Amino acid sequence: MQYIPNILFLLLLAGGVGYFTMNIRKLIRNINLGLDVDRTDQKNVRLKNMAKIALGQTKMVRRPIAGLLHIVVYVGFLIINIEVLEIIIDGLFGTHRIFAPLGKVYNILIGSFEILALLVLVAIVAFWIRRNVIKIKRFLSAEMTGWPKSDGNNILYFEVVLMLLFLTMNAADYKLQLLDAAHYVKAGAFPVSSWMIMPLIDSLSESALIIVERSAWWLHIAGILIFLNYLYFSKHLHILLAFPNTYFAKLTPNGQFTNLESVTNEVKLMMDPDADPFAAPDPTTETEEVAKFGASDVMDLNWVQLMNSYTCTECGRCTSECPANLTGKKLSPRKIMMDTRDRLEEVGKNIDANNGEFKDDGKQLLGDYITPEELWACTTCNACVETCPVSIDPLSIINEMRRYLVMEESAAPTELNNMMSNIENNGAPWPYNQMDRLNWVKE
Ligand code: SF4
Ligand code: SF4
Repeated sequence: MQYIPNILFLLLLAGGVGYFTMNIRKLIRNINLGLDVDRTDQKNVRLKNMAKIALGQTKMVRRPIAGLLHIVVYVGFLIINIEVLEIIIDGLFGTHRIFAPLGKVYNILIGSFEILALLVLVAIVAFWIRRNVIKIKRFLSAEMTGWPKSDGNNILYFEVVLMLLFLTMNAADYKLQLLDAAHYVKAGAFPVSSWMIMPLIDSLSESALIIVERSAWWLHIAGILIFLNYLYFSKHLHILLAFPNTYFAKLTPNGQFTNLESVTNEVKLMMDPDADPFAAPDPTTETEEVAKFGASDVMDLNWVQLMNSYTCTECGRCTSECPANLTGKKLSPRKIMMDTRDRLEEVGKNIDANNGEFKDDGKQLLGDYITPEELWACTTCNACVETCPVSIDPLSIINEMRRYLVMEESAAPTELNNMMSNIENNGAPWPYNQMDRLNWVKE
């Protein structure tokens, strides 16, 4: 009988962690649907980037107010969750404040957790006001309606509840310590809950206080497990994915274009004077699949691009700096990332429903999610890549899809087709004969 709470706790923990693990496996499976790309080089530079951008939040603070608020919530979230370790040990073994023997260190830890919890509450209120009262423009675009809008608020409400439960648990515990209640060891410092929550529960009897403390304790850990499982369905997956995403981001200069190996080989063959254009095809390559140029669906993108889509925080910094978007074009780099993730999720569900095999659903990323109009509006300026706080590269997806339109569908806009045929015929983008190039000298 005395072990019932421990067993219940174990079941709750196993259920929460189990469901989370299942979804993370699904996430990894979906990311692995992408094409291979080697990002194992320059490990030290990659580690440095990850430490600077994901851990140090260096790109976040380029917008100081949002950056600072974000750092408070982020640090608060990370550090307060150290408390979770104690809760888990207490829950599993039936102890109470197992780390209390740390003495002064413990007091400092609990005290600083409380101060952080208060700062997190202040930051959350500021975030909520920015979204819902000031209505900052980048949170109001067309793609930010429905679930993305509620998701942004849900997480704020979630964090408020978690912080309040934490402070309530501490306030009740502190009061019970003052009453010399059995099992409530005198430990911890409570600089916030003692004035914020304690007055509300001060007049309660000891048994009522125990109910408050135990309820807040259970709801706090249950809330954390729900939060953990909510991540998969939310833009807040970036809490976890920002780290691998910044590590595996491309290190080449932003303006450097990637060459298609198949095209490079074709060109090399054309330039080789010894090549025999009528040579019989290599029997070893005859059965190989015909290479597809560019991307029309998520499986044509590489795994880093797919991981990018899951990492997107939907902050809209890219869209707010995109010259195409600013001049009223249909393009929003944030929407490119959200569409890629939504299509990837759809493909993943399709695979789950068909025993691990993808069954053609007559849909694809190009056309059903992202239109050619959006793709051709891009100026390839790289502003979105430069500004993204978690090193996402929406332009690489746009380029791959444009490649597909040009090389597989011959569906480039007329202006581009004219320019490309001029390059082909005249060796320059202008419609003038090569022989006339030096005419200006005569004048
Ligand atoms: S690269 Fe394209 S999508 Fe990105 S900011 Fe420039 S125009 Fe916009
Ligand atoms: S791509 Fe980057 S900048 Fe754009 S919305 Fe996503 S996280 Fe923000």
